[in-house]
Amino acid sequence: MTMRRDGWSDMPELPEVETVRRGLMPVIEGRVIVTADIRRPDLRFALPEGMAGRLTGARVLRLTRRSKYILADLSTDETLLIHLGMSGRILISGDTLGAFHHAHPAPEKHDHVVLDFDNGARVTFNDARRFGAMDLMPTAGRDSHWLLRDLGPEPLGNAFHEDYLIARLKGRRMPIKAALLDQRIVAGLGNIYVSEILHRAGIDPRRVAGRISDARLATLVPLTRAVLAEAIEAGGSSLRDYRRTDGELGYFQHAFRVYDREGAPCPTPGCDGHVRRIVQSGRSTFHCPKCQR
Ligand SMILES: [Zn+2]
Repeated sequence: MTMRRDGWSDMPELPEVETVRRGLMPVIEGRVIVTADIRRPDLRFALPEGMAGRLTGARVLRLTRRSKYILADLSTDETLLIHLGMSGRILISGDTLGAFHHAHPAPEKHDHVVLDFDNGARVTFNDARRFGAMDLMPTAGRDSHWLLRDLGPEPLGNAFHEDYLIARLKGRRMPIKAALLDQRIVAGLGNIYVSEILHRAGIDPRRVAGRISDARLATLVPLTRAVLAEAIEAGGSSLRDYRRTDGELGYFQHAFRVYDREGAPCPTPGCDGHVRRIVQSGRSTFHCPKCQR
C-alpha cells in the first residue's frame, strides 16, 4: 500500500477498480445516503447539477462495474458513476467489522466528495490531481452515457471470446499492444495488464495485430482472463487487510512479471532473456525480446 502514489500513474486498472467495488459493496449496498457533502463544483469534468440534493435520501440498490467505472444504481432511478482517474482514492471510515473500526479522519485538502450513510459509514473520495470523475444519469439509459456507450465488451464477460477478438483484429495495422488498449475493442485493459498478457502469450507488443495468426490471437482471451483474475484475487487479499490499515480501498501490491521490471531476468521458464522497456505511443511497454515474438 505504501507504493501507492509514486510512479503508479498507470493505476488504477480494472482489477484495482473491481477491488474498490468489492470493498464498498458490503458497506454501502442497501444503505441510504444521509448526507452528501460536495466540496467543489468539478473534478475532471463539472459535477452534476444539484448533486447533493439528488444523492441525499437515495438508497444504493446495486453496485456494479463497467470497465474502470463504478456504477451505483440508486432508489431514485439515477445511477452514480465514479471514475478514479489516475489519483482518485476512496476511503471508508466509521465502519465497524469485527474488532476493526476506522474513526472518521480529519478532512483532508483533496477530499472532494464525502457521503455519509445510515449505518454510520462514511465514504470519502479524495483526488489530488482531479483526473477522476463523477456523474449522475438515469439508470434506464446508463449504457448510453457518453463515457460508456463506445466501450467494447468486458474482458471477463461472455461477449469477449476468441472469434470476437479474431474478427475485430482482422486487417488491423496497429501494434497488438495498441489494439488491446483500444477501449472499443475490449474495455478496461490498460498499460500494466496488457504488458503482462502479451508476455504470457509470447507475443511481441510491436507486432501488427492483423498479421498475427488466429491461433495465437485466440490464446489472448484465456490469458487476459487469467491475468485479470489473478490480480482481482490479489486485490481480494488486500481487502482483508484494509480494515487493519487506513481504510483506503483499491491499491495493492501485486507481483508483476514484466511491468516495471526493466532489466530483471525474464520469468518465462527456460528463457534467459531480460525484461526490456520500450516506449509505444508515449507509454512504457515492458517485454522480453527473447521469448516474445
Ligand atoms: Zn523471455
